[in-house]
Amino acid sequence: MSMIWVYLETSGGSLTKGSLEALGEARRLADAAGGSVCGLLIGADLGNPATQAGHFGADKVVTVEDAAFADFNLEVHTRLAVKALGGGEAMLVLMSVSTHTRELAARLAANLGVGLAVDCIGLEREGDELVFKRPLYGGKVYQEVTLAGAPGIALLRPNNFEAAPEDTGRAAEVTPLGETVDAGDLKLAVKEAVAAAVGKVSLTEATVIVSGGRGMKGPEHFNLVEDLAATLGAAVGASRAAVDAGWREHPEQVGQTGKTVSPVLYIACGISGAIQHLAGMSSSRFIVAINKDPDAPIFKLADYGIVGDLFEVLPLLNEEFKQALA
Ligand SMILES: Cc1cc2nc3c(=O)[nH]c(=O)nc-3n(C[C@H](O)[C@H](O)[C@H](O)COP(=O)(O)OP(=O)(O)OC[C@H]3O[C@@H](n4cnc5c(N)ncnc54)[C@H](O)[C@@H]3O)c2cc1C
Repeated sequence: MSMIWVYLETSGGSLTKGSLEALGEARRLADAAGGSVCGLLIGADLGNPATQAGHFGADKVVTVEDAAFADFNLEVHTRLAVKALGGGEAMLVLMSVSTHTRELAARLAANLGVGLAVDCIGLEREGDELVFKRPLYGGKVYQEVTLAGAPGIALLRPNNFEAAPEDTGRAAEVTPLGETVDAGDLKLAVKEAVAAAVGKVSLTEATVIVSGGRGMKGPEHFNLVEDLAATLGAAVGASRAAVDAGWREHPEQVGQTGKTVSPVLYIACGISGAIQHLAGMSSSRFIVAINKDPDAPIFKLADYGIVGDLFEVLPLLNEEFKQALA
């Protein structure tokens, strides 16, 4: 096997958790088949992320460091990634699913004329082939796909792959790509990127999510969800009903028209389990539902169900977790 590339994203000057997981999976594949791992970093202040990439499994990191590219620009990143990956040595490109990589991967696959597997939750080698497992129809069925053309591109869902253990004695060879994009030549300019005022833990990368729905009865009761989330170090999510009612912001919405999440633990509070909500969270490893209606559809999917009034259950649960984690 030749080189496996990993498109690396940063947040606050460090690699994102999803990028570390993609690196870990690339390392595992490369070790099994005698290949190497190369990270691609585009942006500003790449010193720390490049070092981190070495610690977490990259043999090489190719960088395009330019203050003008500090904010993600689809056109810039596509053009640079095509230049980096078009040389013929890449066999596979892994990326963690994010708003940016969903767009980038699709453009890249079209530009390179190669296959793309989105939302992968598993990846196995069968003979000479790599087989990617991905959920369809809100997790009702799973599809296994192989990719034609090199480099095949796969988007990995966060929390389904393991990052390699950090090894601070490991260093990657860092090489500038040696190519850039002329800003005057761009059809799309990013004037400003404003971070949404949402919780500290990123919803798509969170290991634990506590979500509230219409059963919360109003924005003033979401402190119950927030308190439990704070105890568990979790992100806060919401159903569309809660968002449409103006109780929560859209970046917190989970589901078909919101975010797709894949945490280890998803706690749904006062959420009925409509198919459009399940589409965004059904691949969570463990699902806990709190609902006063024993026939609520969410219980069909939940691993653990609490039939009860969330206004009684949530404070009790929070106290129990606080004691257990103290
Ligand atoms: C095209 C389209 C896209 C959509 N996209 C999304 C999406 O991305 N995300 C999404 O979530 N929805 C989406 N929806 C909406 C979806 O169909 C549902 O309407 C929505 O998910 C319902 O939200 P909910 O479960 O919070 O509310 P409800 O369905 O009203 O459920 C509220 C639940 O709270 C329970 N409850 C009430 N009081 C209590 C209490 N005191 N204690 C415990 N439980 C209580 C009730 O028993 C009930 O089960 C979409 C719909 C369409 C048509």
